[in-house]
Parts: sequence; C-alpha cells; structure tokens
Amino acid sequence: MTPPTATSSATQENVVDVPSLRGGKWEVSASKRHTNVYNPSTGRAIARVPLATADEVGRTVEAAAAALPAWAATPAVERARLLFRYREVLTKNFDKLARLVTREHGKTLAEAQASVQRGIEVVEFACGAPIMLMGEALPNLARNVDAETVRHPVGVCVGITPFNFPAMVPMWMFPVALACGNTFVLKPSEKVPLTSNLLGELMMEAGCPAGVFNVVHGDKEAVDALLTHPLVRAVSFVGSTSIAKYVYETGTRHGKRVQAAGGAKNHLIIMPDADLDQAVAALQASAFGCAGERCMAGSVALSVGNVGDALVERLVDVAGKMKVGPTDEGAAVDMGPLISREHRDRVAGYLDVGQGEGATVALDGRRDLPADGFFLRPSVIDRVKPEMRVAREEIFGPVLSVVRVDALEQALEVGRRSPYGNGASIFTQSGWAARQFKQQFNAGMIGINIGVPAPMAWFPFTGWNQSFFGDLHIQGRESIQFYTQQKTTMTRWFERASEAAHDPVWRKG
Ligand code: NAD
Repeated sequence: MTPPTATSSATQENVVDVPSLRGGKWEVSASKRHTNVYNPSTGRAIARVPLATADEVGRTVEAAAAALPAWAATPAVERARLLFRYREVLTKNFDKLARLVTREHGKTLAEAQASVQRGIEVVEFACGAPIMLMGEALPNLARNVDAETVRHPVGVCVGITPFNFPAMVPMWMFPVALACGNTFVLKPSEKVPLTSNLLGELMMEAGCPAGVFNVVHGDKEAVDALLTHPLVRAVSFVGSTSIAKYVYETGTRHGKRVQAAGGAKNHLIIMPDADLDQAVAALQASAFGCAGERCMAGSVALSVGNVGDALVERLVDVAGKMKVGPTDEGAAVDMGPLISREHRDRVAGYLDVGQGEGATVALDGRRDLPADGFFLRPSVIDRVKPEMRVAREEIFGPVLSVVRVDALEQALEVGRRSPYGNGASIFTQSGWAARQFKQQFNAGMIGINIGVPAPMAWFPFTGWNQSFFGDLHIQGRESIQFYTQQKTTMTRWFERASEAAHDPVWRKG
C-alpha cells in the first residue's frame, strides 16, 4: 500500500493530507490541527500535515511495541538481509528520493543526491551489524565459571528529526536501530514530511514486517507524547540546541536513553600560508552549500595575520557570482532557497544585526531576489568581532562572518568561548599549525584543509558542548552501543560423578 503524494502542480486547493505509517498501514490523522508543507522554490503549499494527537502517537508506539518481540527474536543476519534489500530499493529509487528532497526542502538536486547517498551509506553500515553485535566471552573467568556479554535490543526507539536533511538525518537513525533488533517510530520535521513517507514506503517494499518501522507526523504535542510514553526506551534527536536540551532533559527524566544533537556555529581558520584558491573554494562550499542550512556549515571565517583583505575580496567575488534560483525544475543553479519565508527573513535580519553592531556587510544577499520562493543570496559580513551576535549565534543560512585575528592562539580562544562545538577547520600548509589546531580547538569534528568535516556513516558524529547532549553519538560503533543494551551472564556447571575424567580436550591417549 502506498501513501498518497502531492502532485507537482499542486496549489493551495489540491494539496493532500500527509498520512502516517502505523503498524504497516497508512492512515490520515483525525487531528484538527494542520500545517502546510511548501515547495520553497515557489513558495506554494504542496501538502498539508495533520499534527498527530497524543492518542495517535500512543497508538503508533503501541504498534511498534507489538512488533517488537518477533523482530527482536529474528536472527541478526535476517534483520541485516532486510537492510540489504532496503539498500537495493533505495538505490532503485535514488532519483525519486533526491527529487522529493529538493522539492520539499529546496536544496539543489546535486546536494539532495549527495545527502541521499550519505543516508544509503548508513544502511550499508547497518548491513554489517551482525559482526558488531557480537559479544565478548571469557571461559573460566573464575574456576569453572564462564562469563559472556551479549547485546540485546533496547526496545521501541524513536527518531525526531530536523528540516534540513529530510532523507539523511532520519537515515542516521532507523537503519541501525532496526539492525540491532529494535522497532522504530520516526517523527520527522513537519516542514519536510514527504521524504520520510517515501522512506517508509520503500521500507515496506523491502519487506519490513508491519509495525517494525512507523512514521508519525506532528509537532511539540507529538514529541511530548513520545518523550513521556512508557513503552519508548530510546530517543534519537537532531535539531536546534534549545529543543535538543529540552528533549534530552525530558526524555531522561522519563527514564529514556537519549542522544540529542543540537545547533552549531562552526569556525574556519585561514592561516597566512594557506593555499588561498583551495581555501576560498572550500569556504564557499562550506558557508553557502545547502544555502548554509547545515549543522556543519562554516559560519565564521577566522582570518589569521594579513590574509583578511585578499580572503574577503575573493570570497565576495566567488559568492557574488553564485547562481541562485529555483531548484525544482532542473535549472542549473548553485544555491536554492531557504526552508520558509520566516526563516529567510530571520537570516536576512542578521545582516542588519551585524551592521548595527559595527561590522561591514561586504556582500549583501538581499539584492535582486526572485519574486517567488524563499530566496536569499550568499552574504559576507566583514570586520566582525568575536563578541558580536553574528559571530556567536547560529544563523543557519548563507551568511559568512569574517573575524580577523593576529595569531592562531586568538582563533583557538574564539573556539574556547563558543557555546557550541560541532565542526571546525583549518586551512594551512603547516603541519605544526594543523596539529596545534587539531589538539586544541574546542569542537568535536575537525577538518584540516577540509571545508565540511562531517564524518561518514562508519564514524561517529561527535559534536561537543551545546551541540550534543548525551553519551553515545549518532553513527559508527557508538550507534550500535546506543541501540543495544548489554547482558552479562556468568555460568557454572557442576561436574556429575558420571562425567568425571571425561575432559575431551585434555584427555590423554
Ligand atoms: P528544530 O529544533 O526546530 O526541530 C527539530 C525537531 O524538533 C522537529 O521534528 C520539530 O518538530 C521538533 N520540535 C520543534 N519545536 C519543538 C518543541 N518546542 N518541543 C518539542 N519538539 C519540537 O530544528 P529545525 O529548525 O528543524 O532544524 C535546524 C536545526 O537542526 C539547526 O539548529 C541545526 O544546527 C540542527 N541540526 C543539527 C545537526 C547535528 O548533527 N548537530 C544536524 C542537522 C541539523
């Protein structure tokens, strides 16, 4: 059974209600509360999401709980086979997925394709779960006592995801959770629900048993119902810092295991010896790729020594030439729109904030914007001081602040004072400077001559400080640990008289 989807020519009049996937069936919520889904390239509504009631969320969790015993008892290699099939189905539908991401989120098709590919890599990682689920054993830990530790699923797991990567971020979570024997309820951002439904549809096509993977749409009411439901055992969250903190605190208070990735303010350090061509290309991609709506987007360029003037001049030149426009009709553009009108206006407002604080807007992205859609062109704010809001707050749009410092130590100090700690990169030809930076910068993901140091599926996504709440990160081996609980068994068997002197290993002759 496939969910109804919106047509490409949808207008306010013919939008369809987005259904949820509960216990293997697609159901349209009876909720009286709704929100629209927009195509950010046109600014027009393409679907309507009913925001699930607490009761509907409860029924979804119950469906996941009902499916749990059989799925947890399914051999790990059979669970992995579902993911092998899922990978095939995803690959077959690669373009459809990428186009849907572009349509409801606005990023360019190339960016959408790259994000779907990153998600598929998590499925590939999860296909290898059986070997990572193996336990440890030590026979004869004490005399005639054998000890072993094995991994069990934790139970019903929940994923609550943001708008900026409609396919990739949900796929950071459920493939691994399922491979570990858990059942899953995904609550995607209400701004981009359609991609999650397609992920669910493809999961059913791959042969996922009913109730093992569920999708429910909603807002705070749904999130609160998930965080407090007694049958939910673990919560993975990705979103802004304030909500990440709230989800972590509320979830753990209700006895759940929680991993909550939050917002960021990422720093890019350009040393005087950097290859400026390479650095500018990397900064451009980091700051303006995905219209800056990335938790690993470079947001503050820290130019060290005398490199500032040349850097700003080149950045303004390349960023000013970027082609900005609708991404949904296949036009060759470098950057698409932002997610919503409100968000675009908020991001654009930071140019005034920076100017008001005494910085200089070197490139103003508010000029000459397409009439429809939620567009803002790349913007550069120069001569920013570390204490200014544009240097400290997450803007989450195509705005790069340039802070000029005299020495690497000052750049490290800016990092030390940042409340966030996702990513930071240095551009240099000096191994020593790179080493100092790697050792000392106050962030969990480090790039050396790399603009976006986001790790791929096999490594954990190791945000620090207010960019992450919890103990075990998303992705990599840590995700296997997060989605399993260990059980240790000590065994002693007593020798019966009839079995004496029958040791098959050491028996002589
Ligand atoms: P958001 O925090 O507004 O929403 C994230 C999720 O939380 C959504 O599913 C939303 O429905 C839910 N939510 C929103 N308000 C809530 C409330 N008051 N109570 C309970 N739940 C609520 O984030 P967003 O705007 O969708 O996404 C952008 C943010 O996500 C940025 O801050 C970005 O840095 C962050 N992000 C972080 C990472 C990371 O790995 N650290 C990755 C991607 C995005």
